[in-house]
Amino acid sequence: MKRDITTKLVHAGERRPLPEALPVATPIYASATFTYNSMAEIDQVFGGEKQGFIYTRYGNPTIAALEEAVREIEEGAFACAYATGMAAIHAALIASDLKAGSTVLASQDLYGATTGLLNNVLANFGVKTVHVDFNDLETVRGKARELRPQVLIAETISNPLLKVCDIERSAAIAHENGARLIIDNTFATPYLRQPLKLGADIVVHSATKYLGGHADTMGGIVVSRDDMDGLALVSVMKLVGGVLGVWDAHEILRGLKTLAVRMDRQCDNARALAGYLKEHERVGRVHYPGLGALVSIELRDDTKEAAFRFMDALQLIVRSTSLGDVFTSVLHPATASHRDILPARRAEWGIVDGLVRISVGIEKIDDIIADIDQALSV
Ligand code: PLP
Repeated sequence: MKRDITTKLVHAGERRPLPEALPVATPIYASATFTYNSMAEIDQVFGGEKQGFIYTRYGNPTIAALEEAVREIEEGAFACAYATGMAAIHAALIASDLKAGSTVLASQDLYGATTGLLNNVLANFGVKTVHVDFNDLETVRGKARELRPQVLIAETISNPLLKVCDIERSAAIAHENGARLIIDNTFATPYLRQPLKLGADIVVHSATKYLGGHADTMGGIVVSRDDMDGLALVSVMKLVGGVLGVWDAHEILRGLKTLAVRMDRQCDNARALAGYLKEHERVGRVHYPGLGALVSIELRDDTKEAAFRFMDALQLIVRSTSLGDVFTSVLHPATASHRDILPARRAEWGIVDGLVRISVGIEKIDDIIADIDQALSV
């Protein structure tokens, strides 16, 4: 049929059948919707009788490739990707059937925004959060028996004090009390810990960090041990709509491929840096759990001014509000990740003004130490 140029401009070249050859890397399917030859097929895909994609908020081949990769690596039943780590944590909490009157038993050592989501946003919908120190599991058990929470939530390695959670024992406490255990595995990554295998019910990640690894994308992912939780996660994705962009899914999928080599190098560097810092006269305390690529230090001069002076003097290491990237970066928790936590609470939790969190990168360790050495002497 002969068509006008204005029509041709809209349709020319589009919707060509895929060639038989398989692309070796997953393409970016930058398409909001997907069409089929007939309405009957669309109806079948909508109804779940036929596999396929309909609308990118419901699913997309590029995002699905990332979800499948992380599901397999975390050894879960189901994975669902979201626009950011916070969107993923929100989805995991909502998918855990929280409703007005529910209680969450949360680690006191959580990323500040996770604490904010619980105490400010979900609290307005009648969800109560009680914080406990997950390093004191007897207290966690006592509180779980007393409060009968719906959900327990903790981080594998906590932000910013780097306390390691005993996931097996935390999961046992959750299950004895009919609760789910959600673990934020951002700091450890599935390369170092697979929480579902240790008994957690749901794992969340800020993929912005180690999974992506290059500070050029944001994303979040939730993996569940149970298919039913998977259905709830898809429902949050469809109805709340915080889906991951296809370009970001592509970047994170690419990042995953080098996760093991990056982590090996970053963990070796972190171990060496922690050893150096423990001996430094200007450093009062080093938080390094022997696992992972983060090291937090408390300066002997425990003031914001001393922390800023040290951070401003760094020449190679980047002052950046993130972690898990190929480059070494520093962050001041009291004024960044935990800024919105009340000062009294920060003090109670040990997030002091002289605390600096170092995310160790893949650079040559001698260069990292030399930069920190000169900055500490300023
Ligand atoms: N969880 C942890 C442990 C984090 O450190 C962060 C961000 O720093 C998040 C979740 C939130 O991730 P995003 O910034 O991708 O929303």
